[in-house]
Amino acid sequence: MKKNLIDKIRSVLKSLKFRVFIIVALAVIVPTLVSSIFIYQVALKNYIEKKIENFENANTVIRNTVENGHFFDETVEDVETTNNAVLQNNAKIEHLAKAHQCRVQIVNAKSYILYDSGSEAGKTSVAKIVRKGLAGKKQSAQYYDAMEYVIPVVISSGSSDAENQIVLGVIYTRYSLKDVDVYSTNLLRYVHMAGSLLVIFALILAWVLSIVFTNPIQRIENSITEISQAKNIDKAQEEAKTKNDYSEVMEISRDFRALVNRLTTQVRSQQEFVSNVSHELKTPITSMKILADSLLGQQGMPEELYQEFLQDISKEIDRENNIITDLLELVRMEKSTAEVNISSVNINEIVETILRRLKPIAESKNIELIFESFRPVIADVDEIKFASVVNNLVENAIKYNNTDGTVTTSLNSDHQYFYLKVTDTGIGISEEAQERVFERFFRVDKARTRETGGSGLGLAITKEIVDKHHGSIKVHSKEGEGTTFTVRIPLKYIK
Ligand code: ADP
Repeated sequence: MKKNLIDKIRSVLKSLKFRVFIIVALAVIVPTLVSSIFIYQVALKNYIEKKIENFENANTVIRNTVENGHFFDETVEDVETTNNAVLQNNAKIEHLAKAHQCRVQIVNAKSYILYDSGSEAGKTSVAKIVRKGLAGKKQSAQYYDAMEYVIPVVISSGSSDAENQIVLGVIYTRYSLKDVDVYSTNLLRYVHMAGSLLVIFALILAWVLSIVFTNPIQRIENSITEISQAKNIDKAQEEAKTKNDYSEVMEISRDFRALVNRLTTQVRSQQEFVSNVSHELKTPITSMKILADSLLGQQGMPEELYQEFLQDISKEIDRENNIITDLLELVRMEKSTAEVNISSVNINEIVETILRRLKPIAESKNIELIFESFRPVIADVDEIKFASVVNNLVENAIKYNNTDGTVTTSLNSDHQYFYLKVTDTGIGISEEAQERVFERFFRVDKARTRETGGSGLGLAITKEIVDKHHGSIKVHSKEGEGTTFTVRIPLKYIK
């Protein structure tokens, strides 16, 4: 049960649908996430930069106001005038501090706080940043909730270089950054919201695309299941063909159908072959059985009749033997691993030997055997197998010839191939039959062939041998006039 569940999960994880889903989802979510973080950071940085720019503008205004006032003025004798001026300036600074929402302190060179928009006027400043500012350099510091500045106020003592400047005091300003926090929280909320919507959108898109992309494959799978379970494969294939799909999927279906067709044809031809073999092997046995039964059934038969019957039985045994020998040869040849024993062979010699061997049979029908050799031919062939090609063709040309006929065997070559042509003046082969003569057990005239003792396998074996030599064999024939078989084989054998 648990194993089943694990297998199911594993199969889902391995499925194309799941992978398309993950890829599309990641392809949308990851860039969205990265760009949201980027947008968030850029927006926050811009906001802070803008604020700092505003603080610096405010600092300039405050500094101008302080420099124009009498804050560090200790030379004015008229105390009343001084006090009035200080009061007026204090009011101005207070106004500015309020307007820019910042705290302003004015500290003299002895760290004494002359003015504070807070409540520390009259005290001594202990702030480190102020102490540093009193050394004459502008200071700034950023904290998570505030920004501090210290601007020295200086007068120069004649010369313009920094060393000759006297620091009168500093202006300390502090601006709150609390609203940055609020801004960042709001920004994050928007980013989260938009991000969540995008993630939902990405998941829906990934789901839809995973279905759209994998549906055709699912359909192929269904078709294959249908075809494999169908009783009528042709009909199931026809139905699968009519579906409209992506061109790649159509191509896979087409290839698959071609494969099924090829296998079906192979299986059918195999079945046909087996049934033909059984039939062919049974025929001589049936004849022998009839002959033997007749012998057994009739007692006291004359000696000559016995002889005749036994001769017939012997002929049938030869026929059976012929069929079995040819069958074994064919099966051996059809094996893809069947070896061919190639060597450089004198083709003229082979043809001459065969013709010599077949001469007596030809003479029995008064058939003339002619050999036209255009040139000596040496080629890479399997000697024994090629000899059986010549033998089959010439033997057929004699077998299916008329008495007093002719069989002409010609041998020629060019720089690439040699050509063996066997022409007879026999009965010929009809056009429909020409297409089938190389099929196993095919015979044009069954009754006549039986008389001649042929197995119907000779041309099938011949073609198989020629194919093994990477050659070709063709037949030209006219009924009643004669037949020509042309074999073309490369002079050099290339594996
Ligand atoms: P078989 O053993 O019957 O001769 P083959 O395979 O050699 O078998 O030939 C197949 C059939 O082709 C023969 O039965 C015959 O009908 C026909 N055939 C072959 N060669 C010739 C030919 N030269 N002339 C006429 N018919 C031929």
